[in-house]
Amino acid sequence: MDRVYNFAAGPATMPEEALRTAASEMLCWRDSGMSVMEMTHRGKAYQEIFNDAEARVRDLMKVPENYKVLFLQGGATLQFAAVPMNLMTVSGRADYLDSGNFAHGALVEAKKYGEVRTVASSREDNYAHIPEWNDADLDDGADYCYITTNNTIFGTRYSRLPKGKAPLVADMSSNILSEVYDVNDFGLIFAGAQKNIGPAGVTLVIVREDLLGRAMPITPKAINYLQQADAGSMLNTPPTYAIYMAGLCLKWLQEQGGVSAIEKINIEKAKMLYDFLDESRLFHGTADKGSRSRMNVTFRTGNEDTDADFVKAATKAGLVSLKGHRLVGGMRASIYNAMPVEGVKKLVEFMKEYEAHV
Ligand SMILES: *Cc1c(COP(=O)(O)O)cnc(C)c1O
Repeated sequence: MDRVYNFAAGPATMPEEALRTAASEMLCWRDSGMSVMEMTHRGKAYQEIFNDAEARVRDLMKVPENYKVLFLQGGATLQFAAVPMNLMTVSGRADYLDSGNFAHGALVEAKKYGEVRTVASSREDNYAHIPEWNDADLDDGADYCYITTNNTIFGTRYSRLPKGKAPLVADMSSNILSEVYDVNDFGLIFAGAQKNIGPAGVTLVIVREDLLGRAMPITPKAINYLQQADAGSMLNTPPTYAIYMAGLCLKWLQEQGGVSAIEKINIEKAKMLYDFLDESRLFHGTADKGSRSRMNVTFRTGNEDTDADFVKAATKAGLVSLKGHRLVGGMRASIYNAMPVEGVKKLVEFMKEYEAHV
């Protein structure tokens, strides 16, 4: 069976090169005589793999010295609690921008731990756009201001960042490493790996050092940033194989020329799809033009039966997982870093052909 073009939102397509390397090293990693999966995390061989992955993150994102890079478990969802437990302890207040389902989930979770203020929300418009806010309205005394840089389900993306005095915390799960960000603009960045970093099972956290050491006493130690930083993310057993796989994917990204190079390709891929959607008679984009995501392109025909038929026909043609999230309906093409330009070309060609025949 040939590999298909996989447009799933996450877990998502990964670079074939990384998968091939993993396959070739499956039984025996270098001269270790064993699979990475079988290695103790306390040994020299595994520490080398771990350090390599961290170094690649630091290189790709130009992470400054005064930031810690952590590899944790529990997904982005556990960070919805970890962020307030670690940070919402000085004023006990935080600002949240409600731009999608994950953003909303994060603010609901944070309410368990302190005073959450919703600065702006696009919930009433089913999150078809990034909510509008005024930087002057941000709470400068809040412990942090929280955003979701790319809204995976609705297909929207912030094109500018809130600028206030409180540290900015960003859930970058679905667009980390896809475009250039200046880490200095953030107090904390986190991302589940399964969209743009590697396989599911590991969550990347990048946190500025001055924000460490103020966690609530009830914070579980496995999500206490200071304790995990002091332990090199190995307070307990880390997700060893997921980190190894992430390292292979990060290496691939470096070989593509890094984040600025892949950003150009990502812009080109997204443009191909949106240009077609804008001229199509049958398919229409669901997100507002000014808020469009480069990673998750949401669209529909306006007829649910036609949507379902299209998804079925596309699957037959080797273009899979195009069904949209139930909160939006229609279709969603997730076109992360590892989706080749060729895959997007094939999709657009297929949509053109489909349109010509219905
Ligand atoms: C996928 C996703 C999540 C949830 O990630 P889990 O690893 O399943 O917890 C959270 N936020 C965003 C933006 C996502 O895309």
